Amino acid sequence: MSARNVEKSELQWREQLTPAQYEVLRKAGTEAPFTGAYTYNKESGEYRCAACGAKLFSSETKFDSGTGWPSFTEPAVAEAVELRPDNSLLMRRTEVICRNCGGHLGHVFDDGPGPGGQRYCINSAALNFEPQASTSAGSAASSPASAGTAGAAAPETGDEASGGAQQAGASPA
Ligand code: FE
Repeated sequence: MSARNVEKSELQWREQLTPAQYEVLRKAGTEAPFTGAYTYNKESGEYRCAACGAKLFSSETKFDSGTGWPSFTEPAVAEAVELRPDNSLLMRRTEVICRNCGGHLGHVFDDGPGPGGQRYCINSAALNFEPQASTSAGSAASSPASAGTAGAAAPETGDEASGGAQQAGASPA
């Protein structure tokens, strides 16, 4: 496993995170369904890692999966997440991790509604929602098509359909 951009001791994480966040992000816990803050959130904005602030998911790909967890068809930035097999709990699942800090976010399944067929099932506790800045109708801004002007050095350009790493795993979250 490669080094993380953000590395902290477990003690530091404990101090920084709430107990619920710590349990999910550092202990790979799963919050109880329908209890998370963002399950039903339909506001426009972006979801960042609650541990390190990395931009992970966008409201534009969020959908109501009925599972009780925030669900997305894809990450906002493909490189922002890392997938790895998780065979715990007698299930074959694919774990979703924040690449920047190594925090556990949730799992990804193959039964999603989008073209990619993926369902990123993510714990609310692993996320911080950032509402879209403009309160007006937002005519410009939102289209990623013309967004070649993004930040300078940030590794934020994510346009690839991530053909690769995804395991089987058709099981309940
Ligand atoms: Fe993170």
